[in-house]
Amino acid sequence: MKIIGLIGGMSWESSAEYYKLLNEFTREKLGGWHSSRCLMYSLDFAEIEKLQHENEWAKLTLIMIDAAKKLEAGGAECILICTNTMHKMAEEVQKAVSIPLIHIADATGEEIKSMGLKKVGLLGTKFTLEEDFYKGRLSKKFGLEVIIPSERDRQIIHNIIYDELCLGKINQISKEKLKNIIAKLEREGAQGIVLGCTEIPLLIKQDDLKLPIFDTAKIHVKAGVEFALKQ
Ligand code: GLU
Repeated sequence: MKIIGLIGGMSWESSAEYYKLLNEFTREKLGGWHSSRCLMYSLDFAEIEKLQHENEWAKLTLIMIDAAKKLEAGGAECILICTNTMHKMAEEVQKAVSIPLIHIADATGEEIKSMGLKKVGLLGTKFTLEEDFYKGRLSKKFGLEVIIPSERDRQIIHNIIYDELCLGKINQISKEKLKNIIAKLEREGAQGIVLGCTEIPLLIKQDDLKLPIFDTAKIHVKAGVEFALKQ
């Protein structure tokens, strides 16, 4: 079993899920007392969140590269960045290390394609929704049509992520708001919904919806475990 390196802490609420899911998938695959061989480098989200909102992406890229190098030096054999948003600098991080970075959008794209869907709605931070690094990858690499919520709804989702979910607050009213936003995307033709923020699955589960959802944290972890167990 290869050692999985995780860049976590963005926020730790979802990184804790990553750790749990990693071990659950490993036990599912290998049985018994097996658990994941992994290393997590967990960042202080106060620093990350501040730099994101100050648009200091060059500084953030250096922080991510430093974390990846530390994981590689510690023996990690692949890297998982435990957030969709911070895949904005995935290419720079990959170039800085010699171990593979398992990209969250690639794992998600494969899963969507395997279900035969063509058009999906995307939820996530404003950075993920408004820039091209994520939706562009889904459309260019996997031929998917990706639709996003309106500007007002994007702000609502962004606030729920940062002001609630990343602080460990689970709010039923926010859950209803997300369900309404999802219903609008469905009316626009979305055949599935990508929970493109690793905290959103803390609030919305498949049982809450009829439309298929893509839990990017779970899909990412599964891809990591499959890589770690490959001969
Ligand atoms: N974890 C979130 C994501 O998947 C948002 C927090 C962050 O900005 O990294 O995008």
